[in-house]
Amino acid sequence: MTMNKNYNFNAGPACLPEDVLQQIKNDIPDWQDGISIFEYGHRLPPIVKLRDSIESRCRSVLNVPDNFDVLLMHGGAQTLFGLIPLHFLGANESAQYCITGHWSKGACQEAKRLGAASVLIDSASTQFSAIPEQSTWDHNANAVYTYYCDNETIHGLRFAEPPVNTAGFLVADMTSSLGSRPIDYTHHGVIFASTQKNLGVAGLTLVLIDNQYIRESKQPVPRTLSFKEQASDRSMLNTPNVFAWYVLDLMLEWIESSGGVEYFAQKSQDISAKLYTEIDSNDFYANPVKNPYRSDINIPFTLPTDELSKLFLAGADLAGLKCLKGHRAVGGCRANIYNAMPEAGVDMLITFMQDFKAQHAT
Ligand code: PMP
Repeated sequence: MTMNKNYNFNAGPACLPEDVLQQIKNDIPDWQDGISIFEYGHRLPPIVKLRDSIESRCRSVLNVPDNFDVLLMHGGAQTLFGLIPLHFLGANESAQYCITGHWSKGACQEAKRLGAASVLIDSASTQFSAIPEQSTWDHNANAVYTYYCDNETIHGLRFAEPPVNTAGFLVADMTSSLGSRPIDYTHHGVIFASTQKNLGVAGLTLVLIDNQYIRESKQPVPRTLSFKEQASDRSMLNTPNVFAWYVLDLMLEWIESSGGVEYFAQKSQDISAKLYTEIDSNDFYANPVKNPYRSDINIPFTLPTDELSKLFLAGADLAGLKCLKGHRAVGGCRANIYNAMPEAGVDMLITFMQDFKAQHAT
């Protein structure tokens, strides 16, 4: 009997291609000199070499410019939501936030708690279906920085181009998009991402920061969370998660050998277009986001009723299409198509959607 392959469409804590997973399985008992990767001391030469390799791969694969430092930090992207205002907002200073979905809303709330932040735009006015035209934005000219989330993982909304003509420097949360398309670093001061989407496993936050902004934080932060302290200790201030470092290095190598971020940008554009075509071709499935703001990585969709959604999710799961349930903040269904998702997984999903619609549409 042949088993159908399963495809994981959530991949919250990690999304690893089969080659990388196989490499990890081989290296767990003996990475180098008979020592497991979990057990390697972070000050030993192989881990120092690993850190240097990550940095040079970030420059070659993610095109990080020479004037940016590569920091390997802790606490996930949500810790950065707090670290950004703590580092850059002193008394009488403020920032402006683009709210385009769940994660940028959370970042803005955290900034208001720890400093002064204003809302530059809020896509809630269109039920998160679009980003207001940039020429209509009413900037706070004194803002120290302008914050945006490149790709909103839950609402499936993305910036087609980074914000332009903004006050201060740009800060970007690229948790769900770093490694999936080329980046224009112009005007950016900080770009950060948890690594659990396209860059490995949870437990590591990649911070790419223009070194002109690496200064004493404006408000106190623990030393281990200070950009300046971590930069001067080259991310080895305290014991790092060396396993997550190792997986990040493997993922960067895999992205490069697969054809680089340009290859993945084209691939996700092509396969998400197939899925959107299916969603748009009928009244049974719906996605409210308008072009060009539709994410080609996270694709939420709804069915006519909650009962049908439940039936759809149960049937999809049995068919090997796993974890298609939408995020608890919005409900419905969602297909997350990170770099490691094979085209065959999306093709199988589309066929399942067509069959399900044929059975249940009235
Ligand atoms: N920002 C974005 C865009 C995300 O997708 C996520 C997690 N899915 C987060 C922030 C939060 O990341 P973490 O759980 O690592 O704090």
